[in-house]
Amino acid sequence: MNDNSKRTGSLISIQDSLVKARFFGEVIMGETAEVFVDGKILQAEVLQIDTDPKNKEAGIVEMQVFEDLTGAQIGDSVEFKGQPLSVLLGPGLLTSIWDGLQNPLYKLSEQGAYLAPGMKAPALDEEQLWEFTPLAKEGDEVSGGDAIGVVPEGRMEHKILVPFSLGKCRVESIVDKKELNITQEVAVVLDAHNNRHTLKLAFRHAVKSPIPFKERAIPSQPISTGVRVIDLLAPVGYGGTVGNPGPFGAGKTVLQHSLCKYALADIIIMAACGERAGEAVEVFKDFAELEDPATGESLMNRMCIFGNTSSMPVAAREASVFIALTVGEYYRYQGYSVILLADSTSRWAQALRERSGRQGDIPGPEAFPMDIPDQIKGMYQRAGADHATGGSLTFIGTVSPAGGNFQEPVTQATMDATGGFWGLSQDRADAKKYPAIDPLVYTNSVYDSFISWKDRNKMLHSLLEANDIDQTISTIGLKKVPVEKYVSYQKGQTIDFCVMQQDAFHEMDACTRPERLKVINDAVQQLISSPIEFSQQGMEDDELKELIKTKFDELRQWWRDWNSNAQGDELINELPAKVEQFIKQEEA
Ligand code: ADP
Ligand code: MG
Repeated sequence: MNDNSKRTGSLISIQDSLVKARFFGEVIMGETAEVFVDGKILQAEVLQIDTDPKNKEAGIVEMQVFEDLTGAQIGDSVEFKGQPLSVLLGPGLLTSIWDGLQNPLYKLSEQGAYLAPGMKAPALDEEQLWEFTPLAKEGDEVSGGDAIGVVPEGRMEHKILVPFSLGKCRVESIVDKKELNITQEVAVVLDAHNNRHTLKLAFRHAVKSPIPFKERAIPSQPISTGVRVIDLLAPVGYGGTVGNPGPFGAGKTVLQHSLCKYALADIIIMAACGERAGEAVEVFKDFAELEDPATGESLMNRMCIFGNTSSMPVAAREASVFIALTVGEYYRYQGYSVILLADSTSRWAQALRERSGRQGDIPGPEAFPMDIPDQIKGMYQRAGADHATGGSLTFIGTVSPAGGNFQEPVTQATMDATGGFWGLSQDRADAKKYPAIDPLVYTNSVYDSFISWKDRNKMLHSLLEANDIDQTISTIGLKKVPVEKYVSYQKGQTIDFCVMQQDAFHEMDACTRPERLKVINDAVQQLISSPIEFSQQGMEDDELKELIKTKFDELRQWWRDWNSNAQGDELINELPAKVEQFIKQEEA
């Protein structure tokens, strides 16, 4: 599409973020457009193209506009851009905070205290200089995805890639090692049709065309997330997918923040569509100040955030998830482990619902589009591990079903599409048993764990047994429960209280690494498998149960202190010793 054939149209209907425009000539499905409203330029995307029943020469396009249309009028002009919705990829992505359309929020905030529709700033800093070191030389044959050079980005090496849209090319010229900004020429390549392409440090990529894998692999290595219930019972592998549904207030956002801080990965990308107004803004403020516990540097050095602020209409949420996925794929292609956290995908699905509703599509269950399961699957499928590059993109999405009803379509489709399931339970949240992931009802994982399946099942079995006995106690009373059962109950309670529950706000307790997890698992397994006989010594059952409870309470208290204090091998190894002593003392 060349520049002198500007293709334009004008608005003929406006309905929230959905508009129709009449145009003459050619329009491409899925291309972006700019709508000129009251001196502002608003971003839009073509959704549908029809012929104009009133005018044979003209066509009608339906578009969704990503920004607030207040003030728009019939007749406002539209310019078609010839390119699909795309994201700018290049050095400087890390540490950035954007809105759902990759407008940098800090830069925009310099233009005014409030974000207004139509405000634009370059997605990546155009002034910052990067020390470029070439990897390719004149005459080399390269194609889309090949690295022609590198620049340092924080602690990482950012590969400068040939845009994925290019096929086989020959390098005609390339700069020597030097400092460049993202607008300057790095190389010129000649494609098979003798077309010249100027390459820079950054390029645009269409967000709905996944960046390919070199060699897709099944996720095998578990990620140390630091969260015990996850790493023990429902682990996620590098390149895996997890659905994390939970009712409002159950702790989805706290969990995501915890993963941001502690999950072991090179890069964390957050796509935040806050449920509460201003939640996204809170995230930006918090994270800018947080320290990466692994490096002592700012947490933002390994992060970037897409946040939908309250001034952005729902349509931008849909875009932001695709943009974030594309950035994740870009770094995976460079060989990095990336975790994408989307909070909440329900807000994303609602954007689809609103759009399809306005477009008059036949609605599926709960008015979501019929193909919502496919759309959700399509999104999670972009995650994965790449054997050839060593990179991975892990996708963890929260779902916020109304009333905590996991039967609703988005939760169900997410569970179908993902390999891991971390369901937060209202009951556990109400009882302040955090993280409120219910290991008995709401965990599942197809990925390898840090402990054996046998140990995992024993742990689950103990929790399950304790839960059953708890039910018995509350229905027929403690009296009817045999002492031996009561001991099993206390064991399960101990695992729940000391291992499953974890304080996300306690510096030490918040994160448990695999070495420590192993010590914990050994202690747990020993506790489960050792029969503990409390000697009756002429006591009534009631009295004995009271004594058993007191002893277990003492153990639990000790263990909780250990969780928040024990550092260094010596102190860490006090746990198995303590458990062993506990078991022996009672046996004696
Ligand atoms: P959601 O995102 O599911 O609506 P939040 O993540 O905002 O819920 O959690 C609501 C509140 O629950 C938090 O403000 C916090 O007080 C508490 N909470 C959740 N998870 C934890 C946790 N792991 N440790 C301590 N408190 C938690
Ligand atoms: Mg939340």
